[in-house]
Amino acid sequence: MKVALLGLGLMGLPIAQRLVHCGHDVVAWNRSQERLKIARDEGLSVASSLTAAVTAGEVLILTLSDAAAIEEVLFDPSVTPLIEGKTVLQMGTISPDESRNLGIRVEAAGGDYLETPVLGSIPEARAGELIIMAAGSETAYHQTLLLLRGLGKEVEHLGPVGKGAAVKLAMNQLIVSLTAGFSQSLGLIRAQGVEVEQFMQLLRQSALYAPTFDKKLKKFMEHDYSNPNFPLRHLIKDLALFQQVAESSGINGAIANATLKVLLSGQDAGYGDEDYSSLYEAINPGFDAETDIGC
Ligand code: NAP
Repeated sequence: MKVALLGLGLMGLPIAQRLVHCGHDVVAWNRSQERLKIARDEGLSVASSLTAAVTAGEVLILTLSDAAAIEEVLFDPSVTPLIEGKTVLQMGTISPDESRNLGIRVEAAGGDYLETPVLGSIPEARAGELIIMAAGSETAYHQTLLLLRGLGKEVEHLGPVGKGAAVKLAMNQLIVSLTAGFSQSLGLIRAQGVEVEQFMQLLRQSALYAPTFDKKLKKFMEHDYSNPNFPLRHLIKDLALFQQVAESSGINGAIANATLKVLLSGQDAGYGDEDYSSLYEAINPGFDAETDIGC
Protein backbone atom coordinates (compact mmCIF):
# COMPACT_ATOMS: atom_id res chain seq x y z
CA MET A 1 0.00 0.00 0.00
CA LYS A 2 1.05 3.62 -0.44
CA VAL A 3 1.68 4.83 3.08
CA ALA A 4 2.49 8.31 4.36
CA LEU A 5 3.93 8.01 7.86
CA LEU A 6 3.77 11.26 9.83
CA GLY A 7 6.09 11.52 12.85
CA LEU A 8 9.48 9.85 12.83
CA GLY A 9 10.01 9.67 16.59
CA LEU A 10 11.02 6.65 18.64
CA MET A 11 8.08 4.61 17.31
CA GLY A 12 7.57 6.21 13.90
CA LEU A 13 10.97 5.30 12.52
CA PRO A 14 10.88 1.56 13.30
CA ILE A 15 7.24 1.33 12.21
CA ALA A 16 8.14 2.96 8.87
CA GLN A 17 11.10 0.60 8.47
CA ARG A 18 8.97 -2.42 9.26
CA LEU A 19 6.39 -1.34 6.66
CA VAL A 20 9.11 -1.03 4.02
CA HIS A 21 10.36 -4.48 5.04
CA CYS A 22 6.81 -5.78 4.49
CA GLY A 23 6.81 -4.38 0.94
CA HIS A 24 4.79 -1.19 1.40
CA ASP A 25 5.54 1.98 -0.48
CA VAL A 26 6.34 4.34 2.41
CA VAL A 27 7.02 8.04 2.33
CA ALA A 28 7.81 9.56 5.70
CA TRP A 29 7.55 13.06 7.10
CA ASN A 30 8.71 14.68 10.31
CA ARG A 31 8.41 18.24 11.61
CA SER A 32 12.04 18.60 12.69
CA GLN A 33 14.74 18.23 10.06
CA GLU A 34 17.02 16.27 12.43
CA ARG A 35 14.79 13.21 12.51
CA LEU A 36 14.03 13.52 8.82
CA LYS A 37 17.75 13.37 8.11
CA ILE A 38 18.21 10.32 10.34
CA ALA A 39 15.39 8.57 8.46
CA ARG A 40 16.89 9.50 5.10
CA ASP A 41 20.30 8.27 6.23
CA GLU A 42 18.63 4.98 7.23
CA GLY A 43 17.36 4.62 3.66
CA LEU A 44 13.75 5.71 4.08
CA SER A 45 12.05 7.76 1.42
CA VAL A 46 11.22 11.12 2.98
CA ALA A 47 8.81 13.77 1.71
CA SER A 48 9.88 17.30 0.85
CA SER A 49 6.88 18.68 2.75
CA LEU A 50 3.92 17.61 4.86
CA THR A 51 1.50 18.18 1.99
CA ALA A 52 3.69 16.14 -0.36
CA ALA A 53 3.62 13.24 2.13
CA VAL A 54 -0.16 13.40 2.62
CA THR A 55 -0.72 13.64 -1.13
CA ALA A 56 1.44 10.57 -1.76
CA GLY A 57 -0.22 8.23 0.77
CA GLU A 58 -3.49 6.35 0.40
CA VAL A 59 -3.06 5.43 4.05
CA LEU A 60 -1.87 8.08 6.52
CA ILE A 61 -0.22 6.64 9.64
CA LEU A 62 0.05 9.02 12.59
CA THR A 63 2.88 8.33 15.04
CA LEU A 64 2.79 11.74 16.72
CA SER A 65 3.18 12.48 20.41
CA ASP A 66 -0.31 13.56 21.42
CA ALA A 67 -3.68 14.96 20.34
CA ALA A 68 -2.31 18.52 20.12
CA ALA A 69 0.41 17.40 17.70
CA ILE A 70 -2.14 15.48 15.60
CA GLU A 71 -4.39 18.50 15.46
CA GLU A 72 -1.52 20.74 14.38
CA VAL A 73 -0.50 18.34 11.61
CA LEU A 74 -3.80 17.05 10.25
CA PHE A 75 -5.86 20.19 10.58
CA ASP A 76 -3.39 22.58 9.11
CA PRO A 77 -5.48 24.39 6.45
CA SER A 78 -3.13 23.15 3.73
CA VAL A 79 -3.54 19.52 4.84
CA THR A 80 -7.22 19.04 5.75
CA PRO A 81 -8.52 19.20 2.15
CA LEU A 82 -6.02 16.47 1.21
CA ILE A 83 -7.55 13.99 3.68
CA GLU A 84 -10.48 13.28 1.34
CA GLY A 85 -10.49 9.65 0.22
CA LYS A 86 -7.61 8.68 2.56
CA THR A 87 -7.56 6.19 5.39
CA VAL A 88 -6.13 7.57 8.62
CA LEU A 89 -4.55 5.14 11.10
CA GLN A 90 -3.86 6.85 14.42
CA MET A 91 -1.19 4.97 16.42
CA GLY A 92 -0.31 7.38 19.23
CA THR A 93 -1.71 7.14 22.76
CA ILE A 94 -4.58 9.60 23.16
CA SER A 95 -7.83 9.52 25.12
CA PRO A 96 -11.09 8.00 23.82
CA ASP A 97 -12.69 11.47 23.60
CA GLU A 98 -9.70 12.90 21.76
CA SER A 99 -9.85 9.98 19.33
CA ARG A 100 -13.62 10.29 18.79
CA ASN A 101 -13.21 14.00 18.11
CA LEU A 102 -10.41 13.25 15.68
CA GLY A 103 -12.51 10.60 13.95
CA ILE A 104 -15.40 13.04 13.49
CA ARG A 105 -13.08 15.66 11.98
CA VAL A 106 -11.36 13.16 9.66
CA GLU A 107 -14.71 11.90 8.45
CA ALA A 108 -15.99 15.47 7.96
CA ALA A 109 -12.95 16.00 5.72
CA GLY A 110 -13.91 12.93 3.67
CA GLY A 111 -11.43 10.48 5.19
CA ASP A 112 -11.89 7.12 6.87
CA TYR A 113 -10.68 6.83 10.48
CA LEU A 114 -9.35 3.84 12.39
CA GLU A 115 -7.66 4.23 15.76
CA THR A 116 -4.82 1.76 16.08
CA PRO A 117 -2.87 2.46 19.30
CA VAL A 118 -0.12 -0.03 19.98
CA LEU A 119 1.35 -1.88 22.94
CA GLY A 120 5.04 -2.69 22.66
CA SER A 121 7.98 -0.50 21.90
CA ILE A 122 10.91 -0.18 19.46
CA PRO A 123 12.00 -3.87 19.44
CA GLU A 124 8.41 -5.04 18.94
CA ALA A 125 7.86 -2.49 16.14
CA ARG A 126 11.03 -3.67 14.39
CA ALA A 127 10.01 -7.31 14.70
CA GLY A 128 6.35 -6.78 13.75
CA GLU A 129 5.28 -7.96 17.21
CA LEU A 130 3.18 -5.07 18.46
CA ILE A 131 -0.25 -5.57 19.98
CA ILE A 132 -2.65 -3.38 18.00
CA MET A 133 -5.95 -2.24 19.51
CA ALA A 134 -7.96 -1.18 16.48
CA ALA A 135 -11.37 0.50 16.64
CA GLY A 136 -13.48 2.52 14.26
CA SER A 137 -14.25 2.14 10.57
CA GLU A 138 -14.73 -1.53 9.61
CA THR A 139 -13.94 -0.62 6.00
CA ALA A 140 -10.62 0.92 6.99
CA TYR A 141 -9.89 -2.09 9.19
CA HIS A 142 -10.42 -4.62 6.40
CA GLN A 143 -8.53 -2.47 3.90
CA THR A 144 -5.48 -2.20 6.14
CA LEU A 145 -5.58 -5.55 7.96
CA LEU A 146 -2.70 -7.01 5.99
CA LEU A 147 -0.62 -3.92 6.71
CA LEU A 148 -1.51 -4.06 10.41
CA ARG A 149 -0.67 -7.77 10.56
CA GLY A 150 2.80 -6.89 9.28
CA LEU A 151 3.25 -4.66 12.33
CA GLY A 152 1.51 -6.67 15.00
CA LYS A 153 1.44 -10.19 16.36
CA GLU A 154 -2.05 -9.38 17.69
CA VAL A 155 -4.47 -7.17 15.81
CA GLU A 156 -7.92 -6.90 17.32
CA HIS A 157 -10.91 -4.82 16.22
CA LEU A 158 -12.62 -3.72 19.43
CA GLY A 159 -15.68 -1.82 18.15
CA PRO A 160 -16.46 1.87 17.67
CA VAL A 161 -13.80 4.60 17.95
CA GLY A 162 -12.72 5.12 21.57
CA LYS A 163 -12.58 1.46 22.59
CA GLY A 164 -9.05 0.98 21.27
CA ALA A 165 -7.91 4.17 23.02
CA ALA A 166 -9.59 3.00 26.24
CA VAL A 167 -7.86 -0.40 26.15
CA LYS A 168 -4.52 1.30 25.46
CA LEU A 169 -4.93 3.58 28.51
CA ALA A 170 -5.91 0.57 30.63
CA MET A 171 -2.75 -1.22 29.47
CA ASN A 172 -0.51 1.76 30.19
CA GLN A 173 -2.02 2.15 33.64
CA LEU A 174 -0.76 -1.39 34.25
CA ILE A 175 2.72 -0.36 33.09
CA VAL A 176 2.63 2.37 35.74
CA SER A 177 1.22 0.23 38.55
CA LEU A 178 3.47 -2.77 37.96
CA THR A 179 6.60 -0.64 37.68
CA ALA A 180 5.68 1.58 40.63
CA GLY A 181 4.66 -1.40 42.77
CA PHE A 182 7.88 -3.29 42.03
CA SER A 183 9.94 -0.13 42.63
CA GLN A 184 8.47 0.27 46.09
CA SER A 185 9.10 -3.36 47.06
CA LEU A 186 12.60 -3.43 45.59
CA GLY A 187 13.37 -0.14 47.35
CA LEU A 188 12.39 -1.69 50.67
CA ILE A 189 14.44 -4.82 49.98
CA ARG A 190 17.55 -2.77 49.22
CA ALA A 191 17.03 -0.36 52.10
CA GLN A 192 16.71 -3.30 54.51
CA GLY A 193 19.84 -4.98 53.18
CA VAL A 194 18.09 -8.10 51.89
CA GLU A 195 19.93 -9.91 49.07
CA VAL A 196 18.12 -8.77 45.90
CA GLU A 197 18.59 -12.11 44.12
CA GLN A 198 17.08 -13.99 47.07
CA PHE A 199 14.05 -11.71 46.92
CA MET A 200 13.79 -12.18 43.16
CA GLN A 201 14.01 -15.97 43.39
CA LEU A 202 11.09 -16.05 45.80
CA LEU A 203 9.12 -13.49 43.80
CA ARG A 204 9.60 -15.41 40.53
CA GLN A 205 7.98 -18.49 42.15
CA SER A 206 4.95 -16.52 43.26
CA ALA A 207 1.73 -15.47 41.55
CA LEU A 208 2.84 -11.86 42.09
CA TYR A 209 5.63 -12.04 39.53
CA ALA A 210 5.44 -10.13 36.23
CA PRO A 211 8.09 -10.47 33.48
CA THR A 212 8.53 -6.68 33.41
CA PHE A 213 10.21 -6.91 36.84
CA ASP A 214 13.22 -8.79 35.46
CA LYS A 215 13.17 -6.68 32.31
CA LYS A 216 13.73 -3.53 34.36
CA LEU A 217 15.81 -4.93 37.25
CA LYS A 218 19.20 -4.14 35.70
CA LYS A 219 18.21 -0.50 35.19
CA PHE A 220 17.13 -0.23 38.83
CA MET A 221 20.32 -1.87 40.09
CA GLU A 222 22.56 0.32 37.93
CA HIS A 223 20.43 3.49 38.15
CA ASP A 224 20.85 3.78 34.39
CA TYR A 225 17.83 4.84 32.37
CA SER A 226 19.60 6.12 29.26
CA ASN A 227 18.63 5.29 25.64
CA PRO A 228 14.90 5.01 26.40
CA ASN A 229 12.43 3.20 24.20
CA PHE A 230 9.58 4.80 26.09
CA PRO A 231 10.45 7.99 27.99
CA LEU A 232 8.96 8.97 31.35
CA ARG A 233 7.32 12.10 29.84
CA HIS A 234 5.07 9.92 27.65
CA LEU A 235 4.07 7.72 30.58
CA ILE A 236 3.13 10.88 32.50
CA LYS A 237 0.96 11.98 29.55
CA ASP A 238 -0.71 8.56 29.49
CA LEU A 239 -1.34 8.38 33.24
CA ALA A 240 -2.83 11.89 33.20
CA LEU A 241 -5.16 10.77 30.39
CA PHE A 242 -6.02 7.59 32.32
CA GLN A 243 -6.81 9.60 35.44
CA GLN A 244 -9.15 11.99 33.57
CA VAL A 245 -10.99 9.15 31.85
CA ALA A 246 -11.17 7.06 35.05
CA GLU A 247 -12.64 9.92 37.07
CA SER A 248 -15.18 10.76 34.39
CA SER A 249 -16.15 7.05 34.37
CA GLY A 250 -16.83 7.06 38.13
CA ILE A 251 -13.61 5.26 39.07
CA ASN A 252 -11.74 6.56 42.13
CA GLY A 253 -8.75 8.31 40.56
CA ALA A 254 -6.89 8.84 43.86
CA ILE A 255 -4.26 6.15 43.22
CA ALA A 256 -3.58 7.41 39.73
CA ASN A 257 -3.44 10.97 41.02
CA ALA A 258 -0.95 10.15 43.78
CA THR A 259 1.23 8.18 41.37
CA LEU A 260 1.08 11.01 38.85
CA LYS A 261 2.50 13.39 41.46
CA VAL A 262 5.41 11.01 42.07
CA LEU A 263 6.07 10.68 38.33
CA LEU A 264 5.98 14.46 37.92
CA SER A 265 8.56 14.79 40.71
CA GLY A 266 10.75 12.40 38.67
CA GLN A 267 10.31 14.65 35.66
CA ASP A 268 11.18 17.72 37.76
CA ALA A 269 14.32 15.89 38.86
CA GLY A 270 15.37 15.62 35.20
CA TYR A 271 14.17 12.12 34.25
CA GLY A 272 11.53 13.19 31.68
CA ASP A 273 13.55 12.03 28.68
CA GLU A 274 14.93 8.92 30.40
CA ASP A 275 13.34 5.47 30.35
CA TYR A 276 9.99 5.45 32.17
CA SER A 277 11.37 2.99 34.73
CA SER A 278 13.32 5.95 36.15
CA LEU A 279 10.16 6.41 38.21
CA TYR A 280 12.09 4.09 40.57
CA GLU A 281 14.31 7.08 41.46
CA ALA A 282 11.31 9.25 42.34
CA ILE A 283 9.95 6.48 44.56
CA ASN A 284 13.33 5.79 46.15
CA PRO A 285 15.04 9.19 46.32
CA GLY A 286 18.40 9.58 47.96
CA PHE A 287 19.84 6.25 46.83
CA ASP A 288 23.49 6.49 46.00
CA ALA A 289 24.65 4.01 43.37
CA GLU A 290 27.99 3.69 45.17
CA THR A 291 26.58 2.82 48.55
CA ASP A 292 23.47 0.81 47.65
CA ILE A 293 23.07 -2.22 49.84
CA GLY A 294 22.23 -5.47 48.13
CA CYS A 295 23.66 -4.70 44.65
P1 NAP B 1 8.54 10.70 20.26
O1 NAP B 1 9.78 9.94 20.06
O2 NAP B 1 8.51 11.78 21.28
O3 NAP B 1 8.10 11.32 18.84
C1 NAP B 1 7.03 12.20 18.78
C2 NAP B 1 6.79 12.60 17.33
O4 NAP B 1 5.74 13.59 17.30
C3 NAP B 1 8.01 13.25 16.66
O5 NAP B 1 8.03 12.87 15.31
C4 NAP B 1 7.70 14.74 16.81
O6 NAP B 1 8.32 15.53 15.81
C5 NAP B 1 6.21 14.73 16.58
N1 NAP B 1 5.57 15.94 17.06
C6 NAP B 1 5.37 16.34 18.34
N2 NAP B 1 4.70 17.50 18.38
C7 NAP B 1 4.47 17.85 17.09
C8 NAP B 1 3.80 18.95 16.48
N3 NAP B 1 3.23 19.91 17.21
N4 NAP B 1 3.77 18.99 15.12
C9 NAP B 1 4.33 18.01 14.38
N5 NAP B 1 4.96 16.92 14.91
C10 NAP B 1 5.03 16.86 16.25
O7 NAP B 1 7.31 9.75 20.60
P2 NAP B 1 7.15 8.17 20.37
O8 NAP B 1 7.77 7.47 21.51
O9 NAP B 1 7.51 7.83 18.99
O10 NAP B 1 5.57 8.05 20.60
C11 NAP B 1 4.61 8.48 19.65
C12 NAP B 1 3.24 8.14 20.21
O11 NAP B 1 3.14 6.71 20.41
C13 NAP B 1 2.96 8.75 21.59
O12 NAP B 1 1.60 9.02 21.71
C14 NAP B 1 3.35 7.64 22.57
O13 NAP B 1 2.68 7.75 23.80
C15 NAP B 1 2.91 6.41 21.78
N6 NAP B 1 3.63 5.17 22.08
C16 NAP B 1 4.97 5.18 22.31
C17 NAP B 1 5.63 3.97 22.58
C18 NAP B 1 7.10 3.90 22.83
O14 NAP B 1 7.56 2.83 23.29
N7 NAP B 1 7.89 4.93 22.59
C19 NAP B 1 4.90 2.77 22.60
C20 NAP B 1 3.53 2.81 22.35
C21 NAP B 1 2.91 4.01 22.09
P3 NAP B 1 9.66 16.39 16.11
O15 NAP B 1 10.82 15.47 15.81
O16 NAP B 1 9.57 17.53 15.17
O17 NAP B 1 9.60 16.81 17.56
